[in-house]
Amino acid sequence: MYAQVVVDISSDAVDRVFDYLALPETKVGMRVLAPFAGRNLLGYVISLSETTNFDPAKIKQIKSNLETVPRLKPEILNLCFYLSRKFFLRMSDCIKLVLPSCVRLDSAKEQINYNLTLNLDLETAINQIGKRAKSQLAAVAFLAEQGEAEYVKMVNLFGRQAINALVDKGIINKNSMRKMRAPSIENVAVKKNILTKNQQLAVDTIKDNNQTFLLQGVTGSGKTEVYMTIIEHALNQNKTAIMLVPEISLTPQMMSRFNSRFPNQVAVLHSGLSEGERFDEWDRIFTGKARVVLGARSAIFAPLENLGAIIIDEEHDSSYVSESNPRFVTHDVAEFRARYNKCPLVLGSATPSIDSFKKAKDGVYKLVTLPERINGMQMPNIEIVDMINEVLDGNASPFSKKLISKLDQCINNKKQAIIFINRRGYASFVICRECGYRAKCDDCEVSLVYHKEDNQLKCHFCGKRYKMLASCPHCHSTNIKYGAIGTERVVNELKKMFPTTPIFRMDNDTTRGKDGHKKILQQFSQTTPSILVGTQMIAKGHDYPDVTFVGILDADVSLYNSDYKSNERTFQLVTQVAGRAGRANDSGYVVLQTYSPKHYVYRFAANYDYLGFYDKEINLRQTTGFPPYSNILRILISSASETKAIETTKKIYDKAKELKEKFGKQIIFLQAMSSPVKRIQTKFRYQILTRYLPNEEITSAFYSIADIIEKDVSIFVELNPNNLR
Ligand code: ADP
Ligand code: ZN
Ligand code: ZN
Repeated sequence: MYAQVVVDISSDAVDRVFDYLALPETKVGMRVLAPFAGRNLLGYVISLSETTNFDPAKIKQIKSNLETVPRLKPEILNLCFYLSRKFFLRMSDCIKLVLPSCVRLDSAKEQINYNLTLNLDLETAINQIGKRAKSQLAAVAFLAEQGEAEYVKMVNLFGRQAINALVDKGIINKNSMRKMRAPSIENVAVKKNILTKNQQLAVDTIKDNNQTFLLQGVTGSGKTEVYMTIIEHALNQNKTAIMLVPEISLTPQMMSRFNSRFPNQVAVLHSGLSEGERFDEWDRIFTGKARVVLGARSAIFAPLENLGAIIIDEEHDSSYVSESNPRFVTHDVAEFRARYNKCPLVLGSATPSIDSFKKAKDGVYKLVTLPERINGMQMPNIEIVDMINEVLDGNASPFSKKLISKLDQCINNKKQAIIFINRRGYASFVICRECGYRAKCDDCEVSLVYHKEDNQLKCHFCGKRYKMLASCPHCHSTNIKYGAIGTERVVNELKKMFPTTPIFRMDNDTTRGKDGHKKILQQFSQTTPSILVGTQMIAKGHDYPDVTFVGILDADVSLYNSDYKSNERTFQLVTQVAGRAGRANDSGYVVLQTYSPKHYVYRFAANYDYLGFYDKEINLRQTTGFPPYSNILRILISSASETKAIETTKKIYDKAKELKEKFGKQIIFLQAMSSPVKRIQTKFRYQILTRYLPNEEITSAFYSIADIIEKDVSIFVELNPNNLR
């Protein structure tokens, strides 16, 4: 037998599949050690064959199999083939996606604990030990009473010497036991609700159907309950399920809800796990012990078999498209797995992406709606406040009078408020008023953000920290101007106005460390009245019944981001943030501050008019020729040497111009330029940007002209990127 092996050489730009002589136990999907250029390299068996096209005399034998049960199950291996075709990836990169490194590289080990039990009855044991060994006597007495105890605990209590002596004499047994490390999940009993008519209808439409559904339900309409019922149905048929959420570590609440509904069946996979936890969770899934996987984007690769449902919650969220290499789109992967398993794929959102909603309109997806909140609760009233009027009225503070009065009212009623500002830190930049000097990162072409609590300037692109300026390094003036307000300053200002109210802050700075989000959310949920100030991480999925007021300080940041998705993104953000208010018995109220009160994004958002927004937006996309009516493709070229970056850009651009000749008007736009952020982490960044009518052939042609190797230059292709910086 010959084995076709993908050899894991990360420095290599081409896919390397080699034929080896298989060992007797070699199976498809196995990790093996393969001799390669005088070394033994990690490889993956992607197929077996009776014959080979190479000279059999020159074919080497696999050195060893690294496992007895192949880590790559047939479906997952098929998925890798699909990924490599669909996203123009190397096979070895695909395997890196589907197998976490702790599994692929055996970098995590099983944790073994030892348990002790008595081997004899107590009396016999005492006789054998004799009267003088006091510690040993105490240990067996203790063990007789307890039945069993952990080795570590017994050693702590009675000393290593005594315990080991007892084990050696065969008086007590030392049994090894694998200990599973598991992410901590709050254990709260969550009652199972009786579905409303609309929820039941949604479940009945979706379950057992080999189709993709777009579940559009307003915030608080009970989508999660629908997901859980569909998953329960799958489990009842002995099937499994995957549920994806944008950032599961942000929503500990979702974990407890699932854990309570499906005890011992849920595995969670997200970036916040320790290596050991990830290894054990993956193993529970691989061996079929966990049948529901809850996780972020990469959980779509979970090695479950016999899937009965896949759910992507908040399907519009940009985190479902990975921004780094190997780049993939979660929806496509989910689609592949759903069709492979002939099960439903559910895309849920209050504000579906324009792309997905168009597919629903075109009949590619089946649309299911939940138009009302549970228990007939009203959607919170969204009031738009024109900040220009505030300025004209002499209010220079970041808070409008309306916002303060509503916040005051909320606190007086002993309720909770959420204040949203999508900027962390104290001030977005610092400039010298005298000479215009602006503090910038040495390694990136961006302004530094002032963080007052550690009196530092930080680069939000590379994390580098600098001392805060005491005076301008150019003209020595101390007249420093602070840029736009961030979360830290909002908290400071609110503390002045509400000195006795607990205020929590949730952003990337306060949530470092394990369970950082959980701690803040837990404290917030247990404190009334209180205020939670945060970035977009407070927008998603949280369900706190006492939140009655939401203040949106500055949504314009996202509106004027100047890419074609900024309208869509702002609409989604406003709707999601507003949706945190008034979810239980008390009605909610939202104040939205803006300098563009008449913008249609805000008008439609304030009226909860998704359809109105969609019609307007899709029209705009069509007339201007933007996605989904076209594709945007970017080839990003970066290098520490600006000359090299430019040279490579020119080289690829010349070939791109040939494509423009070939495809003519189908290519609407083609340009080479420096990237909006010209330098990140010491690398200069140039790009070739193109827009063309959707056509696989053109996409593939652009990928192939970018598929070149240049020393010290990295080239990255993105199709319809979420972020063009
Ligand atoms: P969504 O995911 O659409 O924002 P959730 O599923 O979080 O909504 O539901 C909002 C709230 O309503 C939750 O507190 C949930 O427990 C509750 N809920 C959902 N379905 C029902 C139901 N059928 N009966 C009573 N309460 C429900
Ligand atoms: Zn100056
Ligand atoms: Zn930097």
